[in-house]
Amino acid sequence: EAARLNERTTASRDMYERARVHLSGGVASSYQLRDPWPIYIARGDGPKVWDVDGNEMWDFHNGFGSMVQGHAHPAIGAALAARYPQGTHFGCPTEDDVVVADELARRFGLPKWRYTNSGSEATMDAIRIARAFTGRDTVMKIFGSYHGHHDTVMVSIGVEYDKIGDRENLASLPYGAGIPQSVVDMTVAVPFNDAGAMERRIERLEAEGRKPACVIMEAAMMNLGVVLPEPGYLEAVREITRRHGIVLIFDEVKTGLAIAPGGATEKFGVQPDMVTLAKVLGGGLPSGAIGGTEEVMSVVEDHSVYQVGTYNGNPLTMAAARASLEEVLTPEAYAHLAHLNDRIVDGCQAIVDKYDLPGYAVGIGSKGCVTFSTAKVVDYETFKENQDAELADLAWLFNLNRGIFMTPGREEEWTLSVTHTDEAIDAYIAVFEELAADLTR
Ligand code: PMP
Repeated sequence: EAARLNERTTASRDMYERARVHLSGGVASSYQLRDPWPIYIARGDGPKVWDVDGNEMWDFHNGFGSMVQGHAHPAIGAALAARYPQGTHFGCPTEDDVVVADELARRFGLPKWRYTNSGSEATMDAIRIARAFTGRDTVMKIFGSYHGHHDTVMVSIGVEYDKIGDRENLASLPYGAGIPQSVVDMTVAVPFNDAGAMERRIERLEAEGRKPACVIMEAAMMNLGVVLPEPGYLEAVREITRRHGIVLIFDEVKTGLAIAPGGATEKFGVQPDMVTLAKVLGGGLPSGAIGGTEEVMSVVEDHSVYQVGTYNGNPLTMAAARASLEEVLTPEAYAHLAHLNDRIVDGCQAIVDKYDLPGYAVGIGSKGCVTFSTAKVVDYETFKENQDAELADLAWLFNLNRGIFMTPGREEEWTLSVTHTDEAIDAYIAVFEELAADLTR
């Protein structure tokens, strides 16, 4: 499959040769790297993308889960076209900032909002607000969860199985070089789906005088395929953090606006103190937002925390966000996504069962995946222990060679857009069946 892909992507190879001269590694972000070369994209339209070789693909990658609106949505195009002649950046608030905040407050049940330009900035600022609000430094996160590329959260992700450490005392390891050890030491990770381990760790930290300012987590983990919370887990986390006076942050960069109108907060019915958004919010423009309770956000309003950024609330982004919320991400759109996602999950599961593959299909809202694993994944440890990494890699190549574009890597999920149709789902399922048949032949 690798050789076949190389043959189909010679224009990408040529562009890679050219790109490498002045663009480090030939890409704009290290997550775009791929051996032997990245796939360079020429354009997208609705549920499809075309690479520079002219290969047409159904897009299930969707810009790392950002493009739930689909590519070049006319409503967003119209909003951008209307905004552009009126100027695209002032560094001053505009009306769209207000309209978007009103709608986010309604959807996520949090009254106060601020904007950023990415998910990383949103989690960075949310953590600073939580630290200011509590007067504490330690940050608690879930082992294996990705929350962006700032130092505090580039800890305890992508860890090899033999370095994970003991469950009650999981390793704090930097993800890549250049992250100061003193910062790493302030971040403590606990396993997902284990409220008991979280509470015991909080109590130990408290005894050491290092009680956490916040717990930052995804309510459903999205960077290990999709790992859903076990019944009662989120409720227990809410109760524990409230009892200990710890700010609970749901990082909804991937789930927000993607799995329900009000994200995981609405879907699971557990109200955090803060929410971070990005990705889908901007409909393809760089975006980010932080929502919080009156109490927590008071440290922004009394100016003790500087939540700042030249491009925060950029008018183009906010025009796209407003059009998305008002015209694209409607109740009907979420019903359509749910219909498609049920079909793709059920279709994949039926194939897993029929061919007796190691794994299972899982989905929520617009997102899902086939987890190639010999046992159910409930946290990072069970993911690493049981994943059939070779099969996961093969599935990606196999899909790509047959016009199904997925996020490279073994950790990401599919994202559907409102422009996907039953035809796209049929194509996905057909290719998956072909893979299954090939594997068991
Ligand atoms: N949080 C989560 C849950 C994410 O998945 C990501 C990006 N994949 C981020 C934060 C960081 O967002 P960004 O890449 O926009 O900085």
